[in-house]
Amino acid sequence: MTVMRRVVVYPGRIAVEAADVPAPGPDEALVRTLVAGVCGSDLHAAHGRHPFVPLPYRPGHEVVGVIEEAAGSRWAPGQRVIVEPDLPCWTCKMCTSGRENLCENLQFFGCGYAQGGMADYFTLAANRLHPERARKRRREDEHQGGEEEADAPVHPPGGHQRRRGPRKT
Ligand SMILES: [Zn+2]
Ligand SMILES: [Zn+2]
Repeated sequence: MTVMRRVVVYPGRIAVEAADVPAPGPDEALVRTLVAGVCGSDLHAAHGRHPFVPLPYRPGHEVVGVIEEAAGSRWAPGQRVIVEPDLPCWTCKMCTSGRENLCENLQFFGCGYAQGGMADYFTLAANRLHPERARKRRREDEHQGGEEEADAPVHPPGGHQRRRGPRKT
């Protein structure tokens, strides 16, 4: 088993630890992290003030990575992907009636889940990964121009709270 690095947030301390590279299950892909953003919710969680993320936790839910291994899925090694961090159970009443955003067992990758993207590698259900579309941005007034930016999913503050009502736009 190959060893990797992984960030773990403890009360008052953020550590980089050694861990085994996880092995992907049948419908999962093994992803190598390229970049992981620090979200406002990570700041709350690191201070022990996030209602649904008890410490210690393994952060990283705004992630761009590259597929390492994805046997039996639509992904091929080398493809760049972003993570959709909502992880519905797909079996509860809400999920089976097409309302997985109201899943009764909803989990969030990198927010109290067993894994997060602030690690060299992670495994995740293949259907929670999406193609990363890098695009060139040209805003001479703000940037030097021509920087690459990834379309990682970003959400408003509070987006990790379990939704009790329909998703608002
Ligand atoms: Zn976030
Ligand atoms: Zn569910």
